[in-house]
Amino acid sequence: MNLIFELSKKGREGIQAPPMDVPQAAVSLPMQRKMPPRLPEVTENQVVRHYVNLSSMNHHVDKDFYPLGSCTMKYNPKINDEIASHPGFSALHPMQPAPTVQGALQVLHELSQALCKIAGMDAITLQPAAGAQGELTALLIFRAYLLKRDGNPRKKVIIPDSAHGTNPASIAMAGYEIVQIASGSDGLLDIGGLERVVDADTAALMVTNPNTLGLFESRISEAVALVHAAGGLVYMDGANLNALLGITRPGDMGFDACHLNLHKTFSTPHGGGGPGSGPVAVKKRLEPFLPLPVLSMKHGGYFWEWDRPDSIGQMHGFYGNFDVAVRALTYILTMGSDGLQAVSENAIINANYLRARLAEHYDLPYSQACMHEVVFSGDRQKARGVKTLDIAKRLLDFGFHPPTVYFPLIVHEALMIEPTETESKETLDRFVDAMIQIDRESQAEPERLHDAPMNTPVRRLDEVGAARNLNINYFAQTHGSI
Ligand SMILES: *Cc1c(COP(=O)(O)O)cnc(C)c1O
Repeated sequence: MNLIFELSKKGREGIQAPPMDVPQAAVSLPMQRKMPPRLPEVTENQVVRHYVNLSSMNHHVDKDFYPLGSCTMKYNPKINDEIASHPGFSALHPMQPAPTVQGALQVLHELSQALCKIAGMDAITLQPAAGAQGELTALLIFRAYLLKRDGNPRKKVIIPDSAHGTNPASIAMAGYEIVQIASGSDGLLDIGGLERVVDADTAALMVTNPNTLGLFESRISEAVALVHAAGGLVYMDGANLNALLGITRPGDMGFDACHLNLHKTFSTPHGGGGPGSGPVAVKKRLEPFLPLPVLSMKHGGYFWEWDRPDSIGQMHGFYGNFDVAVRALTYILTMGSDGLQAVSENAIINANYLRARLAEHYDLPYSQACMHEVVFSGDRQKARGVKTLDIAKRLLDFGFHPPTVYFPLIVHEALMIEPTETESKETLDRFVDAMIQIDRESQAEPERLHDAPMNTPVRRLDEVGAARNLNINYFAQTHGSI
C-alpha cells in the first residue's frame, strides 16, 4: 500500500474552497508560518481509499474472531455507539449545572441501579476509568473503612498466584503488602493455604471468579467466611463477569465489593487503550466511603452530593467515562435479563466447545469443564521447537487475532482462549481448523512457524521497541522533522 504522502502530485486537490467573500484578517507575525505546511496534494478519493485500506491493516473485532483471553473482545452491537453519539449525550459538557443535564444523570442513575442488581450489591461508583482503577478505588475504600472501624487499616492483601497483574499493582499502590498463595493442583484457590496466611493483619482477600484459568472458584463461600471471621474484607475482581450474568452474583457469594469492566462485559469497543470504565459496587457498610461526588436525588431531581465526610475523595475527573456508561445501559436494556443470562450461557458453551475440540491437539493442564475461557499449554509444540509465540503469530496468517499468551503465569506456554458468546459455530470451527493445522505444521515443518506471520502487512515486529520508541511521524522518518 502506498502511503498518502507518496501519492502526492503537485496541484491535485481534494476540496475546493469557495472564493473569499469576507475581509482578509492579518495574522500576527509570531503566529505566521515560516514555511507552508508539507501536506500531500491528493484527491478526495485517494484520501478515502487511504483510510479505508489503513483501517483494515490491523486486526479488530469487526473484522474477524478476536479470542484474546481475559479481555472479552466481543462484538459490540452498533446501536450502542449510535445511542452514545446522540447529540443529546455527546454535546453535553461535564461542567454543565446538574439541573440542565437531568436526562444524562438519569442514565447514570439507571445504569447504577442495573449494575447493583447484576452484581448483588447495594451501592456503586461509576467513576473508575478501568478495572485497574476500580481495584485501587476499592482498596482505598477498604483502607478507609478499616481505619474508621478499628483505627487500623491492617497490613496485607492476599491474592492467588493466578491473579491478573493489575491486582498486585493495585495492592502496592494502596499501600498494602502483597501476600501470594499458590493455587491448588486443581487450579483453584487453596483453602488450606489461605487459612495459613489469614490473620489479624489481613485487610482483604482479592480473587477473580471465574479465575484466570477460566475455572469457577467453587469453594468461594468458605474462603469468604475465613477472611470475614478474621475481620478482613473480600474483593472480587469482576473482569470475568461475562461468565456469570444472571447465573450468580458477587454479592451473593459474600463479596464486600467488586469492579465490573463495562468495556469488557457491557459492550464498549476497547483494546486501543480506552476509553474504559470499571465501576465499583459495594455492600451497604462501605457506601459512606465511595468516591466524591455521589449521584443523589432530592425533590424528584438528580444532583451531585459532595457532603460525604467519610469519602475517599475523587478518583476521576468529573463522573467517569460517560459515553461508556450510555453504551452499557443501552446494551443492558436491549438485552434484558434473559438476554444477559443467555450471554453468559453461550460464552460458557463456546469456550467448552473449543476445549473439547482442541483437547486432543494441545495440552490442557486443567482439564475440568471451564467457564467463559479455556487455557491450553503449548508445551507439546514447544518440545518440537515451536513456541507459543510462534503459534500466536501463525494464527494471524489465518485472519484471527491470537489468544492471550504467557498468561496466567502458572501455565507453561499458556494459550488463553476466550471465544465470547458473539461467535457462531462456523467461526469457532474455522478457528479450530487453523489451530489443528498449526499443530500439524509444528510436527512437519517447525522452522516455518518461526517466520510467521507471512501474509500480514507487516511481519514479526519488535513489539517492545515499537512501544518504547514510538515513531508515527512519516516526515521525521524520511525527511527529518516537519
Ligand atoms: C482486564 C482485567 C483486569 C484489568 O482491567 P482493565 O480495565 O484492563 O484495567 C483485571 N483483572 C482481570 C482478570 C482482567 O481480565
